[in-house]
Amino acid sequence: MKNLVILGAGTAGTMMANKLNKVLNNKLWSITIIDKDEIHYYQPGFLFIPFGIYQPEDVVRTKLEFLPRGVNFIVDEVSRIEGEKNHVTLKGGRTIPYDLLIVATGANVVPEETPGLKEELWQKDIFDFYTYEGSTLLAKKLDNWKGGKLVINLTETLIKCPVAPLEFAFLADAYFTEKGMRDKVEIFYVTPLSGAFTKPKASKMLGALLEEKRITVIPDFYLQEVDNGRKMLISYDQKEVPFDLLVTIPVNKGADMVEESNLGDEDGLNFIPTDKHTLQSKKFENMFVIGDATNVPASKAGSVAHFEGEILLENILSYINHLPMEAKFDGHANCFIETGFGKAALIDFNYNTEPLAGKFPWPVVGPMGLLKVTRVNHFGKLAFRWVYWHILLTGKTLPVSTHMSMAGKEVEKEVVTLN
Ligand SMILES: Cc1cc2nc3c(=O)[nH]c(=O)nc-3n(C[C@H](O)[C@H](O)[C@H](O)COP(=O)(O)OP(=O)(O)OC[C@H]3O[C@@H](n4cnc5c(N)ncnc54)[C@H](O)[C@@H]3O)c2cc1C
Repeated sequence: MKNLVILGAGTAGTMMANKLNKVLNNKLWSITIIDKDEIHYYQPGFLFIPFGIYQPEDVVRTKLEFLPRGVNFIVDEVSRIEGEKNHVTLKGGRTIPYDLLIVATGANVVPEETPGLKEELWQKDIFDFYTYEGSTLLAKKLDNWKGGKLVINLTETLIKCPVAPLEFAFLADAYFTEKGMRDKVEIFYVTPLSGAFTKPKASKMLGALLEEKRITVIPDFYLQEVDNGRKMLISYDQKEVPFDLLVTIPVNKGADMVEESNLGDEDGLNFIPTDKHTLQSKKFENMFVIGDATNVPASKAGSVAHFEGEILLENILSYINHLPMEAKFDGHANCFIETGFGKAALIDFNYNTEPLAGKFPWPVVGPMGLLKVTRVNHFGKLAFRWVYWHILLTGKTLPVSTHMSMAGKEVEKEVVTLN
């Protein structure tokens, strides 16, 4: 009997446990999944809680509900991976041996990394919405807030769901408009990027939308510290932005045990060096990495974990059967961007192709519009929660191709001038 061990029973780990349980011979392989927490949070729902669109209980389930019978579930924190010895050690003292390891321990926000962020104003006038606790407390704060300067700040660019801060800004505009107090709130979007988003076409479209909604973008702002006494953000080049209410997206890092295991990449953020196509660890050949835990240059998103999962399943089966790993992940990401007032945009891209305008998933008929703000996209975003619980986590196949498709995308023709 061989042991396949999965670290992390979040989006990617749960999905892999379900997929592998269906195809591996249970007389030859035992599957074990380890997580420090018994609760499964639907993280995309954290965006909606501050605005009362979702209630906290809408995003909470137990992990066990989604794990197939026959998979061993251990609730304990992984303290170390010992790759040379093919085992992991747990905080509770146990050692778990493996023949094949999948690391799916995700990413967390670490406000402690920025001076002044987690001090006296924390959860009084400074909130995050990337955690269950943060988004729930922020809902109470917004409910009673009388207005002023609302600052949404990205401390770093490498964050999970890079569009979520933009969605927060759009939803804040709608929330205060609907409450009849938009004129009492100034909204600032303070980012280290030079525009609204990383990719040029999407950045242009989203930048125009922010402007239309009277949300001021402050670009190229690298936060150094938060001055609690003066309620001020201070950048490395000494620029200052005052706030009455700060919604922060703190530094995102991989699990601490990655550092403990000496497995992180050079930038110290605890993301694991991973082959961007095969998803095999660059350090140990019997270790694979999926989801937010990798350092692959794709978005950190549930949709990405899903597309990676299809590739990883194929490659693990090839690896077990001593065949070449031919499945290649192309960086495919597909993200809805909620824009408020019952509408949303949609972007679809990969390592090589930036988000383009067009129709999705089918050419001409769509029904969803790429880089367009539509009501249908909004229904797609709301339907994602059902898709997440029932299709994504359970390892079923979605009717969207694993590799990004160019069907329906509008490719601008290069203009050639002849002299
Ligand atoms: C506000 C917000 C909005 C988002 N919106 C979207 C969206 O609209 N669309 C989208 O596709 N994605 C969205 N995402 C991103 C998406 O939720 C994540 O990318 C996805 O959950 C990543 O899956 P994962 O399995 O890699 O990590 P996770 O789902 O975070 O799972 C990691 C698991 O590892 C466990 N773990 C960590 N360390 C240890 C340890 N040492 N020992 C044991 N267990 C450990 C954790 O407890 C956790 O259960 C959003 C995220 C946030 C925060």
